[in-house]
Amino acid sequence: MKGRITLSLIKPYAVKNGYAGQILAIINEAGFRISAMKYIQLSTNQAKKFYAIHNGQNYFDKLVNFITEGPVVVLLLEKEDAVASYRKLIGATDPHKAEDGTLRKLFGASIELNAVHGSDSDENAIRESNFFFSETERF
Ligand code: ATP
Ligand code: MG
Repeated sequence: MKGRITLSLIKPYAVKNGYAGQILAIINEAGFRISAMKYIQLSTNQAKKFYAIHNGQNYFDKLVNFITEGPVVVLLLEKEDAVASYRKLIGATDPHKAEDGTLRKLFGASIELNAVHGSDSDENAIRESNFFFSETERF
């Protein structure tokens, strides 16, 4: 059975440019329920842990720098088949390749500044939601 949760980050670039409100509105209109949300700045250590799977890639240091350069909005989202549904809403990793109307097409600037993160599997959705939220922070 497909999972009902996914974890999203509105990345610092998008927050800094004032896109968070519009992104939240689109997420709501797409039928996701926000079951937890926080506004925080990640430490370098937290970012390295969050992106551990990318450690060793040539873009790893840049990735850590971009995600820690300012606050992010962390969202735990709920919907049927949440992971796939949200990946569809955000579009391809590279905004230039993302479909029209997707969050990355609308608000991303480049593969590094691609506005939002979305979990890529049910397993990672659970791992990432436990990384950011305790039980009492979920509604
Ligand atoms: P995210 O995990 O942020 O939702 P994604 O699952 O579409 O994005 P991943 O392959 O998990 O893509 O890459 C994580 C992040 O690393 C991307 O969002 C992007 O910012 C960065 N990244 C991935 N590939 C590259 C690359 N070739 N060059 C530069 N940055 C990259
Ligand atoms: Mg990913």
